[in-house]
Amino acid sequence: MKLAERIGLVPPSLTLSITAKGKAMRAEGINVSAFSAGEPDFDTPAHIVAAAQQALAEGKTRYGAATGEPVLRQAIAEKLRTENGLAYETENIAVTNGGKQSLYNLIMATIEAGDEVIIPTPYWVSYPEMVRLAGGTPIFLQADPANQYKVTPEQLKAAITPQTKLFVLNSPSNPTGTVYTPAEIRALAEIIVDAGIYVVSDEIYEKILYDGAEHLSIGAIGPEIFERTITSNGFAKAFAMTGWRVGYLAAPTEIIKAVSTIQGHSTSNVCTFAQYGALAALQSPESAGCIATMLDAFTKRRRYICDRVAQIPALSAFEPQGAFYLYINIAKTGLTSLDFCSQLLDQHYVAAIPGIAFGTDDCIRLSYATDIQSIELGMGRLEKFIDQL
Ligand code: GLU
Repeated sequence: MKLAERIGLVPPSLTLSITAKGKAMRAEGINVSAFSAGEPDFDTPAHIVAAAQQALAEGKTRYGAATGEPVLRQAIAEKLRTENGLAYETENIAVTNGGKQSLYNLIMATIEAGDEVIIPTPYWVSYPEMVRLAGGTPIFLQADPANQYKVTPEQLKAAITPQTKLFVLNSPSNPTGTVYTPAEIRALAEIIVDAGIYVVSDEIYEKILYDGAEHLSIGAIGPEIFERTITSNGFAKAFAMTGWRVGYLAAPTEIIKAVSTIQGHSTSNVCTFAQYGALAALQSPESAGCIATMLDAFTKRRRYICDRVAQIPALSAFEPQGAFYLYINIAKTGLTSLDFCSQLLDQHYVAAIPGIAFGTDDCIRLSYATDIQSIELGMGRLEKFIDQL
């Protein structure tokens, strides 16, 4: 059968395919050092699991509204108001199949042929592909490593054309771990408001911050930018709920209505009992302690992995201020990021993501959301690989 043209526009997700290859090698009995997917190695906290089990026992197993269980939408709006200073109401929230689907639905609802979406590079692998699937044009803004991988307001201003519809902001960032300061967020907001474009703020890593870095939701700056902001978030990273697939989009009502239509004709509601687990994640007093425990572990791993990579002369890494990725420059090795990662996996059993997936071929990404013993083993293997080059 002849496939639709749109599928020829996008490659498969490299974060998912390399992770799957690493898992398949593990299933064959190979002890793979897994630095590929950004997936916390922790189990979902017990109180969240218990809430989903209870929902199952209570028969919460049927279809629900496409935009989510009202009680969860309400709790999300409350969280965004109190924690993030964002003036959303229940009607501004759509519960989605993970943060990824919230972004996909937004792009499908708002972007069409002729529209430009400005994406800072390095970017998370799926942003440009979602734009292409919608028929839009991704416009890449190179974030300078010397400026901590952040784009400047001047850069954003210069990239805006009459076709620009949306700017993608991801802070803390995947893959670099950079975090925009509140002052930097304010400066970007000014450009967005002046130009009359929109911003989607992907805040999935908002809880994972180091060394006093601060997260500011761009929509909280004032009413003008709030009207132009769409906020995306989810439960996967903060609550170790990757497989649950519960995320959300918060936006002006007309966008949520459009997203509801798309979701109503595609996936319908997110798994009903999973939504009750998410509700417990937001409402249980136990959650704060669980987040703190995970953050403490990420903080120690970050220190360890940064120090180990700093000892390898052929590599240099940006010290992340948020998320759980280390973005490493491999230019001195002379290898492309794909060659580097495939040799590293095939010969040394270390799974890493090539920077080409994120728009920069001279880098690789390591996720340190894995236990310290595995990081130790993986770093030893990485050193050996570099020595042999
Ligand atoms: N967002 C995570 C990552 O970048 C999970 C995989 C994916 O959805 O791309 O590794």
